[in-house]
Amino acid sequence: MVKWNIGLNIDVERLDKEHESLLNSVSKLSLAIDSDVSNEHLIKCFDSFEKELIAHFHYEEDLLEKCDCKELQKHKVEHDEFIKKLPQIKEKLLNSDSYIQAKEVVLELTDSLINNIIEDAPLTNCFNKCKITNNSKEKTSLHQKLINKTINTFSFTKRLILSTIVPLVGMIILGIVILFTNYTEYQNIKKTATISLVLSEVNKVTHTLQIERGLSCAVVTSPDNKFTQDLKLQYSKVDDSIKKLKIKLYSIRDNKPTNIVKIFDKIETKIDSLESIRNKVNKKEISVNEILKFYSNIINNTIKLNTKISILNNDKDISSSISTLSSLLYFKESNGLQRALGTIVINQKDFKSREYYEFIKLVGSKRTFKKLFEDTATQNQINSLKKSLNIADTKLLSSYESQILNKNFENLDEKLWFDTVTTHINNIYKVENKLLISINKLIKETQDKYFYKLLLWTIYIFSVLIFVQIILHLFFISSKNQILNLTKAMKHLASGGRDLRLINSNLKDEIAQLHDAYEITRQKLLKGDMLTQLYLARKEAELKNQQIQNNALEELAFIDPLTGCVNRRKFEELSNLELQRSSRYKNDLSFLMLDIDHFKNINDTYGHAIGDDVLKHFSNICLNLARDIDVIARIGGEEFVVMLPETDVDGAFIFAQRFREEIYNSEIVVDKQKIKYTVSIGISIFDIEKDTDIPMILHKADLALYQAKDTGRNKCVIYKEN
Ligand code: GH3
Ligand code: MG
Ligand code: MG
Repeated sequence: MVKWNIGLNIDVERLDKEHESLLNSVSKLSLAIDSDVSNEHLIKCFDSFEKELIAHFHYEEDLLEKCDCKELQKHKVEHDEFIKKLPQIKEKLLNSDSYIQAKEVVLELTDSLINNIIEDAPLTNCFNKCKITNNSKEKTSLHQKLINKTINTFSFTKRLILSTIVPLVGMIILGIVILFTNYTEYQNIKKTATISLVLSEVNKVTHTLQIERGLSCAVVTSPDNKFTQDLKLQYSKVDDSIKKLKIKLYSIRDNKPTNIVKIFDKIETKIDSLESIRNKVNKKEISVNEILKFYSNIINNTIKLNTKISILNNDKDISSSISTLSSLLYFKESNGLQRALGTIVINQKDFKSREYYEFIKLVGSKRTFKKLFEDTATQNQINSLKKSLNIADTKLLSSYESQILNKNFENLDEKLWFDTVTTHINNIYKVENKLLISINKLIKETQDKYFYKLLLWTIYIFSVLIFVQIILHLFFISSKNQILNLTKAMKHLASGGRDLRLINSNLKDEIAQLHDAYEITRQKLLKGDMLTQLYLARKEAELKNQQIQNNALEELAFIDPLTGCVNRRKFEELSNLELQRSSRYKNDLSFLMLDIDHFKNINDTYGHAIGDDVLKHFSNICLNLARDIDVIARIGGEEFVVMLPETDVDGAFIFAQRFREEIYNSEIVVDKQKIKYTVSIGISIFDIEKDTDIPMILHKADLALYQAKDTGRNKCVIYKEN
């Protein structure tokens, strides 16, 4: 019988054991049939199987409910149907009247059971989730757990898409960060460039204001009007430079960085109140301190602008150049202040005054700023400053400084001092402008450099992204296609198709191994199919052979071996069928009863064997004369019946006469002796009104035959009712 196959296991220990046991119980039933046991034993076997099956179904349904499997309802219906079928199967088994019939019932039961077990296979998934399968109880590593979690959370396509999208998103983010950093740098340098555009104007204002400050102090402190004219001239220079600065500021109004705007605002408000200060100076209604405070505030703020700009960008060269410029500006500013204070000190000749004290302080700060400049500047810039400064002026200024320090005011002229310092400052201013030009050039170059860098990065990042996207897309589509093809092929295989071959790549990767496994399965199944066909063909041939043998046996059973005519039993069957047919279609039907005359004499004279030859001779002639639809039967020793379907009384008589004459005219030669014999024939016709069965009609033919015998033999007599 059918044996358990572990492929039927669904990995739940108890369910598998029960399935196996149920199959064994059916096998026991089959064995019981083989050993031809009593019905009581069969009933016992069947009942125990039924009990076991019902218990199993209950257990399985309980498990399905416990694990909340969606298959529960479907299985319940199947179980109920199976249980409902059992009484019928049982009845069929007990009532089967042959071994093969009983076996067939058990095979049917086995078939249902196996189908039921196979239907349970998909339950493994639900039982797995429920953690009652054998492998779900095994301990899994964290790595495996993560893999399982990923498998359960993301579909295959999603995993493929994510594996392409995640690195792509990473690259996009990285690209954005790089581009953003570059863009910010580019923007900063653009801002620096914008501000540096106004720097020269700012410095110009600073420079002119520095002179105005000096002259204002001189005018306020000078007893005569030595400086008044110069101050008036300076006013127009300052106004002119302020006007230019305002125009420049207006042109960059939308691009001013926020931290710079505040300083600009401060400078602008101070400049607005410039007019009132000038009025006070002209009327000499303002102290030197106030003048210094006011102007120094604007000047310091403008110098601060440079420092702020140097912070604006990350470029080392620009920053250091701007720092150099700042130290130069401070150096110039300390010179400017010294000019104003020097003029006051020379005028006052008071070494105890605040201005004197401030003047002395400035000697030190001037040196400090110069040192600072020399520390940050390039050698070229240092040389440029040295070249620009007039040696004679420097010497004169040093001598003025030392005389003032020594409190020797005798030979000092404030106008000479003022003009010399102004020339000195103008020279510094020239160097400043040169430096500013080189800074602007550097900024422009750097701006271009950053622009091309940004452009190159953009091109590079987009190229990489496009390239990566193409590659990832190719990988994604190719992997997906391979899986889809395999799925299609497997489905085709499952539905009976054996013709799909999968194209394998040259690589022996995981997918290729899957394809190999598919190919092996396909070949095995194909071989199985062919073998099954071969087996079926063999079985068919065997059956055919058996049928041929059966037909031969049947023929032997119904044909008289001596004469080749049908025997009495076959005649009864055929004549009954013909009687029904003739009754239904109202066809004619005739019967002849034939008996060889004095046959006993032939036997007695020539022997029994010759008698047999005569019988063969007789039947041969009869068979030759008859049509295909006529039936000739040997119903006794030398008695024959001929059934003539669709033949009326005339037809029957003509046939009987022709046959009788043929026998009469023929002879058998045995051992050179000629034997002649005759036949008597009784004829009866089926009377649809009266005749109900074959014996009735044959009896009438028999009566006619008697009449033929009685009236001289070698005759054909038609039965007639008296
Ligand atoms: P009748 O004309 O009245 O029919 O006379 P008959 O001698 O033919 O008489 P009956 O029909 O009673 O004789 C039948 C004989 O046929 C009896 C038997 O010995 C013989 N017989 C029966 N079967 C066979 C057989 O198979 N072979 C041979 N040789 N003889 C048979
Ligand atoms: Mg006879
Ligand atoms: Mg007879």
